[in-house]
Parts: sequence; C-alpha cells; structure tokens
Amino acid sequence: MKQALNRISATMTAVFSMIFNLMQKQADHQKLTRHILELNKKQSSKEIINEVALCLKDIINYRLFAFVIKKETTVDVWLDPRMYKDSLENIILKDFIIENKDHLTYLNHSFHCDEPREHFNMNDLIFYDITQDNIIFRIYMLPNKKPYAYQDEVVTLILQGCSFALSQQLKIESLKDAAIIDPLTGCYNRREFENQLKRNMAGAVRHKADMSVFMFDLDHFKKINDTYGHIAGDKILKETTRLVKESMRSGDILARYGGEEFIAILPKTNKIKAMELADRLREKISKLSVEHNGAAIQVTASFGVAELNPNADMEKIIEDADNMLYRAKNNGRNTVMPGVIKIVCDQDMLKRKETVI
Ligand code: GH3
Ligand code: MG
Ligand code: MG
Repeated sequence: MKQALNRISATMTAVFSMIFNLMQKQADHQKLTRHILELNKKQSSKEIINEVALCLKDIINYRLFAFVIKKETTVDVWLDPRMYKDSLENIILKDFIIENKDHLTYLNHSFHCDEPREHFNMNDLIFYDITQDNIIFRIYMLPNKKPYAYQDEVVTLILQGCSFALSQQLKIESLKDAAIIDPLTGCYNRREFENQLKRNMAGAVRHKADMSVFMFDLDHFKKINDTYGHIAGDKILKETTRLVKESMRSGDILARYGGEEFIAILPKTNKIKAMELADRLREKISKLSVEHNGAAIQVTASFGVAELNPNADMEKIIEDADNMLYRAKNNGRNTVMPGVIKIVCDQDMLKRKETVI
C-alpha cells in the first residue's frame, strides 16, 4: 500500500513538473513574442540592446554583460556600464584574437565615474553567438540560476530577433556619427559642439540652472610630435580623451575644438565644481603614461573654465574659457584657470578651500 502510494506520488510529481514546465515554456514564449515586437519598434542600437537585456532578464533571469558585433574589420562592443570594463575587454580581445583595444568601437561611447562598479566571477560568464551575413553577434551573460534546457532556444531566438534590426541600425548610426563625431578621438566635432551648446544653454536658461564649460589644450604638443612622431601624438590624443570621457558624468559633452584643443559642456554645474573637475582631470592627464615603441610618453594639459552668464551669451562663454586657457598657458601650463587651491590649516587641521583668479 505504502509502495503504491509512493509510486502515485512520484508519478504525480513528474506530471506536475511536466505541466509546470509546459506552462512556464508557454509563458516564456509569450514574453518573448512581446519583447521581439518591442525590438522592432526601437529607434537606436542602444535601445535595441537595452530591450535585449530586459528580455534576457525577464525570461531567463540572465544579466547581459556585453554585446559584441564582429564584422570583417571592425568590432563594435556594448558593455554593461556597471562592470569593470578592463576585465571583459580582455576576454573580448582574447576570444576574437584582437591585438589591442584601439580596435574596439564602443556603442555606449563612454564610461562614467558616476556608475557604481560590480565585481563578478569570470568563470561564471557564458556566451551565445550567431553569424549572419559574415557578421558575428555574440552576447556575454551571467546566469542567476540554472536555466531550463529549452532556454538555449530562447537565447538563440532573441539573438536572431535582434541581429538584423541591430545591423541595419548600426549602418544608419555610423553614417550619422560620421557627420558629428571626430574619427580620431570619438569626441563630438566642433560643429556638433555648437549645436549642443545652443541646446544646453537654452535648457539652462529655461530651468534657471547652472552651466559651465572648460577648454583644455595639450602642453608643448608640437614637441611630442617632433620627438616621438605623429602616430605617437595621435595615440596620446586618443588616450587623453578616453581618460577625460571616463571621468565625466553621463550628461557632460566633450568635443574636439581644434587640433589638440578640446572643450566640454557641463550642464547643472557651477564654476567652482567645474574648476574642481578640471583640476582632477589635469592631474589625471599628468599621471598618464602612453607607451609607444618602447617609450613611455607623458603629457600635461592647461585648462580654462567659464560659466554661463545671465545674458546667456554663447560667444562670451567660449571667449571667457579661451581667455582663461590663455592665462593658464602663461601661468606655467599644467594648470587650471581660474584655479582652485587647497589650504590645510596647521592649527586645527580643518581643510579650507579658496579660489584665486
Ligand atoms: P602649447 O603648450 O603652447 O599649446 O604648445 P603646443 O606645442 O601644444 O602648441 P602648438 O599650437 O605650437 O602646436 C600644436 C601641435 O599639435 C602642432 C600640431 O602638429 C599638433 N596636432 C594638431 N592636431 C594633431 C593631430 O590630430 N595629431 C597629431 N599627432 N598632432 C596634432
Ligand atoms: Mg598645445
Ligand atoms: Mg593648441
């Protein structure tokens, strides 16, 4: 009797689990259809990838870490901004046999210091890929729980669902990027800077918000080109701007204003905050070491900071930043004008900050 009951109970459990799996599978397929419909409505590669991330999380509780699109000569990468970039960058370089990270183009252009970083175990990372029209689409993910076997199918369907839309979208975006992005540094070009400045100034006036800009120019850059060559100079321009972009907030805008001169728009930022940021960047640049043909090259930069005046004059803010940059150059370079100096009082060890102009 007991044996018979046990048998019935085991059979019931198996049947329930089968029904549960079937129901689960059906529910997942409904979710998948909904997400794939959403994917087709998206207007940018970033939106498409965000939808893929949502879909993976929603259906199989996977977290998307990276999306790689490898074409014949280019590799486009989207990375989850909450992760340590270098770790996954190294995996991608190894997996796709790429010599150095300069060959990677980031779809999410920059990484910002305001995103909290997360640690994860590399060994837990899994990937899926499909190839379409000689393009490899690969997603790197971290599973949160052991997936059902059919979920492999789900991931493949998601990849198939997004790969065509994504490759079309990337073609459109690369044309648009070519018109507004400086190809060497990935910063906005001067024309786009002017558009962005107009837009941001209008926003600042409407919301009665602060807005600042800083301009910086690399010091004695001609000498670097003359000593190490133009290619080394280009490498320094790339590394410097990469460093600056990483340290800025997501709403900030960095543009190449001229040869080795850059300008940034800092919305919702007053002059003191802008000066502090400029000084942090100045210090970071001065500590940067760029390797070229066995030489470790160092560079410094001079900064000029200005804030939006009550008349919201576009020419004036650029002129003010430019004048300050000129003063920084005359002040011995590797400096920010107006400058922030930190004074530590010996008596009570209270830190007091003063500004000098
Ligand atoms: P200062 O400290 O006064 O700014 O001195 P500088 O030598 O940096 O200034 P100068 O204006 O005399 O020289 C700027 C140099 O920047 C000369 C130019 O060849 C170099 N440059 C401009 N654009 C590029 C570029 O795209 N790549 C490289 N490698 N060099 C560039
Ligand atoms: Mg210079
Ligand atoms: Mg210059």
